[in-house]
Amino acid sequence: MGQGRGWEGAVLKLLRAKDFTFTVTGSEDVTADYRRVHFTDGGLLTAAGVHPTMWVRLWFDNAGKPHQRAYTLVDPDPAVGTFSLEFALHEGCASDWARTAKPGDTIEATVQGTGFENPDPAPSHVLVVGDPASLPAINSLLGTLGSAPATIWFEGTLDGLPCRAEPGRHEVREVPRQQAGAALVERVRAELPELLRAGPDPYVWIACDTTTTRTLSAFVRKELGVPKQRLHALGYWRAA
Ligand SMILES: Cc1cc2nc3c(=O)[nH]c(=O)nc-3n(C[C@H](O)[C@H](O)[C@H](O)COP(=O)(O)OP(=O)(O)OC[C@H]3O[C@@H](n4cnc5c(N)ncnc54)[C@H](O)[C@@H]3O)c2cc1C
Repeated sequence: MGQGRGWEGAVLKLLRAKDFTFTVTGSEDVTADYRRVHFTDGGLLTAAGVHPTMWVRLWFDNAGKPHQRAYTLVDPDPAVGTFSLEFALHEGCASDWARTAKPGDTIEATVQGTGFENPDPAPSHVLVVGDPASLPAINSLLGTLGSAPATIWFEGTLDGLPCRAEPGRHEVREVPRQQAGAALVERVRAELPELLRAGPDPYVWIACDTTTTRTLSAFVRKELGVPKQRLHALGYWRAA
């Protein structure tokens, strides 16, 4: 009995160890639909470490019910324990919270599921498909993959958004969101195969709405035969 409690306690302690409270220190409207919020990390960065495209699960309040949504760390700085989050705004609890976030506000977070495997061999060309919700992760990815050239199919417009693509090395192809992502699927299906064949070690990274992500990752894996260690695909949001 005592042993059981001890085991449970240890598990709870492990789970608790992943819980953090972030405190808002400031914010800025980047565009009308994109807002950056600055935080102190409540000990997260030294406890969990930092890796490219790292994300956390935040616990928002939805009329008294917990509402968990994932967000990507922007410029995490373990030395001072700060980072920012960038919110692509739309209707939703997380967006609503971000719209009114002010210094002193707090939010609970869990670190679970995030990770990053550096592609080995290093990519000869990075092929990225994303949208405003995955822009923070795209920026982090491009900053990590050194000198590799990249082609980015971006659903929506980057006008005014903090895209860190470097002209000359990273090419961005904007595609308007039409027919629930079908326009993006069509463009990528038409343009990606040739680029995939152009170099020896391409790497494909996809993070759009869940349906688009599933369609494109099936295309890349099954029709183009890209091995799974050269493809990362994760749906970032669910279209209504
Ligand atoms: C690993 C990971 C990292 C992520 N990082 C970020 C990030 O750094 N910044 C960021 O903005 N998002 C990020 N997202 C996406 C974010 O978690 C979702 O968009 C989430 O659904 C937002 O929650 P919400 O409460 O605002 O809206 P929800 O309650 O989930 O949805 C409300 C309505 O808004 C629609 N909706 C939800 N998300 C979007 C969207 N992105 N665009 C258009 N319509 C949408 C839904 O279809 C629904 O109709 C990430 C997701 C994952 C999985």
